[in-house]
Order: sequence, then structure tokens, then C-alpha cells
Amino acid sequence: MLITQTTMQQLTTQGVKIADWSMIEKYIMCPQLFYNRFELGLVRKDGQPAYGLHFGSGIHGALETWYPSKEDQPALNKFVKLFKPYEEPPSASKKTGKELAATYSAIFGCALLLAYFDKYRPNTWTLVENEVPLAEEILDGFFLAGRIDKIFTNTKGEVFFVDHKTSKYYKDFQLNPNFQFMGYKFLTEKFVGHSVGGYLDMLGVAKSASPHDLLRQEPFNYSAYQMSEWQKTAIHWIGKINESRERNEWPKTMRCRPYFRDCEFMPLCTIPEAGSYESIMNSMYVQEFWDPFTVTD
Ligand code: SF4
Repeated sequence: MLITQTTMQQLTTQGVKIADWSMIEKYIMCPQLFYNRFELGLVRKDGQPAYGLHFGSGIHGALETWYPSKEDQPALNKFVKLFKPYEEPPSASKKTGKELAATYSAIFGCALLLAYFDKYRPNTWTLVENEVPLAEEILDGFFLAGRIDKIFTNTKGEVFFVDHKTSKYYKDFQLNPNFQFMGYKFLTEKFVGHSVGGYLDMLGVAKSASPHDLLRQEPFNYSAYQMSEWQKTAIHWIGKINESRERNEWPKTMRCRPYFRDCEFMPLCTIPEAGSYESIMNSMYVQEFWDPFTVTD
């Protein structure tokens, strides 16, 4: 089902719970992390700006503008407007002290977009829907949500969805299994009413490569068996989230340095006495609830 602000409000007032892949992924990593981030809505006051996230949002905004008219300047303007306030500053080399150019810069983003426009302008796909927020009931009273970047048809009349990705790991991006993309296939099929495949639309991020070499579009699809395995897994984890809510139990996995960086909730998980929880929470965190329809990368 297509989700608007009104339907979202209606679902929320009916007590319906909505989760996207980002939420399920965090629960699998650590239920306590899920609780802090999604139930309490906590984010660090002193958190480093998420340059990669803002860069991805800027690229998504630009591509939303570029399709279907394929006019470059309005799309570049949209990117600069969205991303410029969050541009990564240059850093200093630890060895030489010399200034190092930032990875996530507006100049790099514009070069990447110009290479994209150049490469895909002759593409004959026809846009059906742009940035579609969808949610479908997957377990009683529990909806899986996701924003589908684009739905297209090709010259044979085949319908498919496209997901734009901006990633430093553009060479190794895993398509199968991929929980998020399987979820997008599930949601798009419910929306259009028949089986569909997808396309990864990769806009890689690297200072050392030419922007043209960072672009790749790759088709993918999953069999009925793979989708039924995905659905069982999704229902399992959504059921676990519900169980945690019902019992108010949010165990700690204590794998607190994912990707070699401290989990943002370390200060709360390392307090020596329960009495200091409130003061740490109030002094170090603010409340910013997650919207499952925001662009994540
Ligand atoms: S600091 Fe460790 S235990 Fe605490 S929420 Fe993060 S991952 Fe979980």
C-alpha cells in the first residue's frame, strides 16, 4: 500500500507498528541499541555529522529531479541545496600534517552526477513512479516499510524497481542474499500486483577512481523459494521485536564496536550505577525519532 502522512498517522493511532530494514538490522545487532534508538528515539548531541548519509540523500534528491525530464541543471541545483550544508571539511594528514581533500564534497558529488547523466541519458526506460513510500502487513498488526526509489518499465513492457546506492563498498556490494532488496521486491510486487525484478543503480564513492568507473547498473531477482526463506526470516525478527516490546526486555549483545567505531550508546551501557542513567541520557542525547521513509543511503 502507498503510504501518505495521513495513512501513517491512521496506522499509528490504531497501534500498528511499522519497521524498515534499518530497524530490523539494528535489532539483530543489539536489542538494547534498537530500544535506545527507535523506542526512545535517542541520538548523540556530540555525534559526528553523517556525511555519507547526507551525501546519499543529496544524490537521491538529484535523481528524483533528473527523472523523467533528464534536465541536468535543476538536478545539480537540488544536490547542492541538499548536501552543501553537510559537506565534509578537509582533514590533516597524521603523517605530514598536509591538508587532505574530503571524500564527501559537493564537487565530487557534481562530477559523479554529471558522469551519471552522460552515461544513462540514452537509457530507454520509462518512469512509472518516483520515490514511492510503501508498507505492507507482514505479521498481524506489523507492517514492513520501505521507500522504493523508482519503478520503471522497459521497451518490452516489463516492470521493475530500481534502488540507487551510494557506497564506498561499491565493488563488493552483496545482491544475494540481501534482506533490504528482498523486502523491496515484496513491497513492489504487492503494489503493482505481479512479480517484478530489480536493478541496483550504484553510484560508488572513491577519491581515487574516475566518476565513470564508479557507476554500475545490475539486474537482480530472487526465486519463490528465496523469497519464502526471506519472509520466514523477516517474520521471525519482527516477532522478536514484538516480544521485546511486550516484555520490555532489551538484552545487550555487547558487540559494541561495530565497524571499528564505538556504538553511540556506550556511555549509557557503561554506567556503574542505575542512578546515573537519567543524567547521562539528558546530558548526552536528544530525541529525534526515526522516520522509516527517509532515504538511508
Ligand atoms: S553499547 Fe553495546 S550493549 Fe550497548 S547498545 Fe551498543 S552494542 Fe548494545
